[in-house]
Amino acid sequence: MVSSSRPSIGTERKVVTELPGPKSRALHDRRKAVVSAGLSTGFPVYIERGEGAMLLDVDGNLLLDLGSGIAVTSIGHAVPEVIEAVSQQVADFTHTCFMVAPYEEYVAVCEELAALTPGTHAKASALFNSGSEAVENAIKVARLATGRQAVVVFDHAYHGRTNLTMALTAKNMPYKEHFGPFAPEVYRVPMSYPFRDGLSGPEAAARAIAEIESQVGAHNVAALLIEPIQGEGGFIVPADGFLAALSAWTTANGVVFIADEIQAGFCRTGSWFAIEHDGVIPDLVTTAKGLAGGMPLAAVTGRADLMNAVHEGGLGGTYGGNPVAAAAALATIRTMRDRDLPARARAIGETLAARLNALAGEVSIIGDVRGRGAMMAIELVNPGTTEPNAAAAKSIVNYCNQQGVIALACGTFGNVIRLLPPLVITDAQLEDGLNVLADAVHAAH
Ligand SMILES: *Cc1c(COP(=O)(O)O)cnc(C)c1O
Repeated sequence: MVSSSRPSIGTERKVVTELPGPKSRALHDRRKAVVSAGLSTGFPVYIERGEGAMLLDVDGNLLLDLGSGIAVTSIGHAVPEVIEAVSQQVADFTHTCFMVAPYEEYVAVCEELAALTPGTHAKASALFNSGSEAVENAIKVARLATGRQAVVVFDHAYHGRTNLTMALTAKNMPYKEHFGPFAPEVYRVPMSYPFRDGLSGPEAAARAIAEIESQVGAHNVAALLIEPIQGEGGFIVPADGFLAALSAWTTANGVVFIADEIQAGFCRTGSWFAIEHDGVIPDLVTTAKGLAGGMPLAAVTGRADLMNAVHEGGLGGTYGGNPVAAAAALATIRTMRDRDLPARARAIGETLAARLNALAGEVSIIGDVRGRGAMMAIELVNPGTTEPNAAAAKSIVNYCNQQGVIALACGTFGNVIRLLPPLVITDAQLEDGLNVLADAVHAAH
């Protein structure tokens, strides 16, 4: 098998050329001739191999990955269990289309999703290729099951880039600019954003609910869609009680509560799903990113009465629940369970919180440190204010990149640095990455 026969790429960051190096620059020139300019790449180093938390580029630089390809490779790169499961499945068969000739792997993934997602009620799932597609299908199910049309979403939300999900996403640039018209019957209400609104969870929920009731009417609302911790929008953790109050309101009004766990789910925050922290049992859950160890797979999972309300043939797609991706998901979930990665995410979170809070005490450009488990962020501000400081975020990311550390920015205002390390990162690697980040923050200060 490929994995065991090759020597390790190494476990320690090593920069041997300027970054990006000459081979990466040559590839980037080739790319410019044929790849749409609409695709951005923050740090154009071209990757040859990965292992654990490390990525080897084409110039021989060994990079430390603090982004996991946006919370996807949570179990690390080149995990032996996934390599084996995928290789075996590719050899067996790569595709039949589940709607043409079904296979066990699809069913087994749905069994895992039923067991792992919050709540012990009867559940059913449908599998798709991308997070956006899962969100779209959750809305389809909610509309059909309720016979209503309106969908409520929140400020700073990110739900994807397809036509319906662009409408659900808050930020204009770069996601929506000139891509309209957008899908109708989408209503945006204020998020709980403790750093900026100072409201308690119940107060922020009351504000949102008052807007829904006065501007939409509860009886028109099919679904309330929310990320338990917002991802692209800036790692915004709502105040305690916000999600619980919204959930109670949806239950009282026959509205489907959809938790978009695409970024925060699958062990990232220290539990299998982020919403477990809030004690909320969603009606539907969307998952993707961390689910399949880097293979494209997404799911809608939830109340069987809702999922089964759909007429036969109403859900599906050519590739949804592809057998190779499903085999990868089964190996990924097994790995998360065997290695108790929720516990590892909590331990990483303790290290991150301690270091980032200490750093915030040393510089005046960090306005807020927030997140949960291995999903933590710093929000950069102009000293002495809460004004967003996107320039600082940019310079910190650039500094990290130059040192061979992959770090990501996010946020409606582009002023948040988010940390999403693979959960298998070693203590030494994490320490190394945080040292570079601390240097970067001091340099930006
Ligand atoms: C990434 C993301 C999506 C979209 O997933 P894609 O696979 O990129 O379509 C939706 N919701 C959340 C919360 C995400 O982080």
